[in-house]
Amino acid sequence: MNKLKLVFATNNRHKLKEVQAMLTNFEIVSLAEIKCFDDIPETAETLEGNAILKANFITNKYGLNCFADDTGLEVEVLNNEPGVFSARYAGKENNAKKNMNKLLFELDTKTNRKAQFRTAIALNIHKKQYLFEGICKGEILKNKQGESGFGYDPIFKPKGYKKSFAEMGMEEKSIISHRGKAIEQLVEFLKEYNW
Ligand code: IMP
Repeated sequence: MNKLKLVFATNNRHKLKEVQAMLTNFEIVSLAEIKCFDDIPETAETLEGNAILKANFITNKYGLNCFADDTGLEVEVLNNEPGVFSARYAGKENNAKKNMNKLLFELDTKTNRKAQFRTAIALNIHKKQYLFEGICKGEILKNKQGESGFGYDPIFKPKGYKKSFAEMGMEEKSIISHRGKAIEQLVEFLKEYNW
């Protein structure tokens, strides 16, 4: 059977691998594979807005079916910050370590450590647009635990688990993760989709 080709508008190979493992019935291609090396704007004020900006950029420029995601870590006691600014939380010179350290510092005196990862996905397919969402609730640990994954994984412990995302394998994480759930919504939709 011919697989439907979908561009996943990302340069993050961790995310690409996670998503390819979940969408085996589709040919998921990265931005590099379509030779897109543009700096795609992510200037919206919401996760949904950024996902739409990215998906529309690819569909408008290349005329391809595409989906894009945007994720934020929403911390209850910080009014859902860093949210849409999660990647840039520590400022211009950010990286995962600096972002995590800033968050640990902000929460240092706080007892409420509830947080959730939220992923928004925008899918452009055959000239229509659809939105999906996935949420993973949990809490921010006091210290980093584990080595795998990326971003805030070492300090995020999903609800009902005794270990951080960074102490889980990719498959275990995908089942419960925000992105996993958002992709699941996308998969359910695509299963029913007639093309
Ligand atoms: P993006 O929209 O997926 O690029 O996510 C924005 C930022 O949120 C990333 O740079 C990471 O800091 C963080 N993030 C997104 N997904 C995850 C995850 O699964 N684990 C840990 N951090 C994540």
